[in-house]
This record gives sequence, structure tokens and C-alpha cells, in this order.
Amino acid sequence: MFKLPELPYVFDALEPYIDARTMEIHYTGHHAAYVKNLNDTLKDYPELQDKSLTDLLCDLNALPEKIRTSVRNNAGGDYNHTFFWPLMTKNAVLGPLEKSAQGINKTFGSFEQFQKQFNDAAKSRFGSGWAWLVVNKQSNLEVTSTANQDCPISQGQEPILGLDVWEHAYYLKYQNKRVDYIQAWWHVVNWQQVEDNFRKVC
Ligand code: MN
Repeated sequence: MFKLPELPYVFDALEPYIDARTMEIHYTGHHAAYVKNLNDTLKDYPELQDKSLTDLLCDLNALPEKIRTSVRNNAGGDYNHTFFWPLMTKNAVLGPLEKSAQGINKTFGSFEQFQKQFNDAAKSRFGSGWAWLVVNKQSNLEVTSTANQDCPISQGQEPILGLDVWEHAYYLKYQNKRVDYIQAWWHVVNWQQVEDNFRKVC
């Protein structure tokens, strides 16, 4: 059965950019619900319970049709949030490191150009979803976004950086001002984790 992974910091660690109450509800409410719903979905499918989130999400078409949408949403929700938490830290440096910095500069021209594309993806995702920096099937860096809890790995892409733009991620502090949340979030991005993610793929 799937378990809620530990949060790598306390709820108020990312104040004032991400407030403690939002972090608590996001983790103990939303993320925990994805894990519970995934386990409920798989309860009659013991052969799927030993699979990893990656196994489930990389080949959604292999799943029984009856549970495919629920696995897509809830395994996706678990994967995306498990990926998201370590991408933030209270000890943030201000930009990409080493190999990932080189990759970003090569693909986008500069960090600022990358940041603009990423901000646009995060702002323009209609409704709930995520903005991503991924390594695509051609092994190039690319900014993308997904709806709902859809996960880049279901499209053959490896996520390097991701931002949750569901209202549950920011509404208590930022209300309808998603742009303010996006701007604040850059202050807590864990570029060491981005570097580690990039080196795992490239
Ligand atoms: Mn979320």
C-alpha cells in the first residue's frame, strides 16, 4: 500500500512565502487524500498494489479501464506532491547550479528567459494544474504544463522542476492572485534538488 511520505520540513519553514496553514492543509489534507484514494482504488487489484507510482503512471493504458482515471488522478497527485515538497527549502539560493544552470542557459538563452517561460506556463494554465520544467523525449529541456494531476512521466517526460498552481496551493494567502504566488515561490526554490533531478536524467 502507498504511504504519505514525510514532509522534508516543518509547516512554517517556508514562511512568509508559503504560509504554515496552507502547507499544513496541502500536505495533511490534499496530499494525504490522494494517497488514501489511490489505496482505495487499488484495494481489489492486489497485482497493482506492489507497483511503484512510476510503474502505474508510465503506462496508464495498461490499467483496467474501470480504475484508469482514478489512478491517473490519485497516483498523479501522490507523485506530483512527493516530487514538489523537496523542490522547496527555507535555505534557498537564488538561481540554478552547475549542470542544470548550463542546461537552462543552453536551451532558453538565460535564466531570466527560462523564468519568463515558466511564469507564463504557470499563469496561463487554465483551472487546476502544474507548470513544469521537463526533459522531453528528445532529451531536451522544455517548459510545459499539465491539467489536474496529470504527470509528465505519463507523457514520456522527466520532470526537473514543478509548480503546483491549484488554488489549494495558494488561495488562503494569495486569494485570486496566482501571479503573486508564483513570484513568491521563486524565493523558496531548492536549486540543489533541481540539480539532483537534472543529473539523474542527463
Ligand atoms: Mn497540490
